[in-house]
Amino acid sequence: MNIIVNEENLHQISSDMANHYRILPKESSADSIELYVDEETGNNELKDELELLLGKEISFISVSGYDIEKALSAYYRKERTSSSGKSLNIDNGDFLDNLMEEAKSLKSSDIHFEVYEEAARVRFRIDGQLIERYKIERENYLELVNKVKIRSKLNITEKRLPQDGRIKNDTFDIRVSILPTLFGEKIVMRLLGQDASNIDLNTLGFQEEELYNYTEAVKKPNGIILISGPTGSGKTTTLYATLRLLNDSKRNIVTVEDPIEYTLKGINQVQLKEDIGLTFASTLKSFLRQDPDIIMLGEIRDSETALMAIRASLTGHLVLSTIHTNSALGTISRLIDMGVPSYLIAETLNLSVAQRLVRKLCPDCKKKAGCSNEDFPKSYKIPYEIDTLYKPVGCNRCFHTGYKGRRAIYEVLNIDYNIAVAIKNNSLNKLFTDNNHKSLSDKAFDILAEGETSLEEIYSILINI
Ligand SMILES: [Zn+2]
Repeated sequence: MNIIVNEENLHQISSDMANHYRILPKESSADSIELYVDEETGNNELKDELELLLGKEISFISVSGYDIEKALSAYYRKERTSSSGKSLNIDNGDFLDNLMEEAKSLKSSDIHFEVYEEAARVRFRIDGQLIERYKIERENYLELVNKVKIRSKLNITEKRLPQDGRIKNDTFDIRVSILPTLFGEKIVMRLLGQDASNIDLNTLGFQEEELYNYTEAVKKPNGIILISGPTGSGKTTTLYATLRLLNDSKRNIVTVEDPIEYTLKGINQVQLKEDIGLTFASTLKSFLRQDPDIIMLGEIRDSETALMAIRASLTGHLVLSTIHTNSALGTISRLIDMGVPSYLIAETLNLSVAQRLVRKLCPDCKKKAGCSNEDFPKSYKIPYEIDTLYKPVGCNRCFHTGYKGRRAIYEVLNIDYNIAVAIKNNSLNKLFTDNNHKSLSDKAFDILAEGETSLEEIYSILINI
């Protein structure tokens, strides 16, 4: 059914209200209003509620959820973006601190300042997605850039070259990057040094049995734990949750990272500085003379570091690190490619974990929808049939994104005796086809089937593996 809204009536229902109740106004008079409503939600209860809210007599025209969704994005999209774009007042001396405080309280990882020909804006990255937060008057943008530069001790007269700086005080550690673009300088602030004392392994997304296997393996006194996944898949968070578990007065924990994303009391953190020769490999060498129990390396990206990590674990240390591969199995082939002999991998690797982050659907507005096998990527073999899933909608509580919070999906490969033998004999693939090891994509499918996330969110995981 075609939904035709008289634009003059749009103001009668706010964007928030329209999206929340899944309604659009058709015709209205002084004491009555005719509303298009989703046939699945348009009952008498809703009618009573709306009559109270609007103070008018309501009549419903029921249409399909699909039509409502289409019409909502057609008629209310403009408002959806502008409703978040409050103007940022930069005259206030504390505006930068307030903005950073706000970003932190919304659990943002980055703040973006951008300028275009006619406008400028501030966006926050929340749950991995950029969300527009403020507009800035074009003529105030230069002043804003200067204020940020002064605060991060950068050269305010340099406008043609990129610059990197830092803002530090008691509650903030922020990395500032400035890049000249067509209409002015773009600024990205990365919020660092978040306190890791609240990250809990139990809430990251491990299933019960996985968590048991994981914690058993990280409690071993020596060996290597490797976590793989693309940038932004939450590897560092998993590592810090692990360090938190292991952090006690009896152990010496040292880390080398770039950048240091979290702080944790009681551990010794080193910032990588490759320009002065402080590399992962050289720092690891110094660590070994520091009587460590547990060593965390930000990343293993070359064979020198890989071999040193192996050596450290052979001499009685527990080494935790990340590696850029797509799956738990891929980590083993990557180590072999780096020149690590397979017998040494079999001997030292305790655990290979792969992970991805997915956004969770907002529980306040997610909507049931039908689905069929054709909706899934052709290359993916569905483990079991499902006929319904949930879709994002968008409401006040989720910045109109339809999502709220994220969780990790884990593939945990415990290197037990059988797997170690298979690594030594290069017969891992065979072991996997015989075994019923669950891949990341099948884990993602489970979470979809449980209604926790959407198909769009896991689609790339289903294709990639
Ligand atoms: Zn919502």
